[in-house]
Amino acid sequence: MDIVLSGIRSTGKLHIGNYFGALKNFVKMQHENQCYFFIADYHSLTTHPTPADLHGSVKQVFAEYLACGIDPEIATVFLQSDLPEVSELYLLLNMNAYIGELERTTSFKDKVRLQPENVNAGLLTYPVLMAADIIIHRATKVPVGKDQEQNLEMTRKFARRFNHMYKVDYFPEPTAYNFGKTLVKIPGLDGSGKMGKSEGNAIYLTDDAKTITKKVMKAVTDSGPTMQDQEPSEPIQNLFTIMQAVSESETLDYFKDQYKNCTIRYGDLKKQLAEDIVRFTDPFREKFEDIYSNNTYLRKLVNEGAEKARVSASQTLKDVREIMGFKAF
Ligand code: AMP
Repeated sequence: MDIVLSGIRSTGKLHIGNYFGALKNFVKMQHENQCYFFIADYHSLTTHPTPADLHGSVKQVFAEYLACGIDPEIATVFLQSDLPEVSELYLLLNMNAYIGELERTTSFKDKVRLQPENVNAGLLTYPVLMAADIIIHRATKVPVGKDQEQNLEMTRKFARRFNHMYKVDYFPEPTAYNFGKTLVKIPGLDGSGKMGKSEGNAIYLTDDAKTITKKVMKAVTDSGPTMQDQEPSEPIQNLFTIMQAVSESETLDYFKDQYKNCTIRYGDLKKQLAEDIVRFTDPFREKFEDIYSNNTYLRKLVNEGAEKARVSASQTLKDVREIMGFKAF
């Protein structure tokens, strides 16, 4: 059984792309591995959120993960900032992280280009904090997107460097969790590209029926098929891809057949798709609202999660301090 750790960005609400591309797999993964899920609230400080925004988004994301089916009885779900051990390991790792290698990471270079007015030390050492998050639980697998692969490589480097420097075989070198063929990409409703919050084309799991219907009815289409068995254009294929995720397979087959024989009416397709998305997201929204409004329950889970996560974190830190020479006289 692998120890799997996944950080969750505490920015913004979850959309159906996040669900099918990540959450659905996380829910499955928690039954097959020892999973740690944490909300990366320290990491979010690089963009300087207000206290109210920080608190609000952490609560939102925590409740959304639970509503999606992450089970705190099975997995360890916690806030990064509840583990002081992480900050200490981050400090220790920073001593062996070199400016040159940190400056060369693609994610850092991207930030320098995108926000030259806010190139802070937290951004530079982002991969060190990420490494601390992972190795403090001696995790072996990390589900990462393409943009985080280089940072995971840095984690391996820091773990290896520690082992080498202190002549120990203490930290495992974590590798990317492979979801195999189950990873899907959910497209946006604007005819091209993927669904994303920064793309402004997302349907959120917490959107109500009216909002969902409005968004779907506005989705980009084309002027319709003109030949039998024509390949769908990108915007139509996108609607079929979303339909494949949320609808019954007969529904998708029905509209694909209609497309093939040129009888499809896009208004009907969209109406059906909107209904199916609403039906799919309804239980999520209900569960989310229940959880979000129950502060006592949330507080209890956060406390229990921190307590569970601190078991492995404090053991690691104790071992690391000793290996490094911080010992009692
Ligand atoms: P983000 O919201 O970009 O931070 O992504 C969080 C997780 O959701 C990552 O694992 C992404 O790969 C996944 N994800 C984001 N957008 C999509 C999408 N449109 N389709 C599939 N997966 C997605």
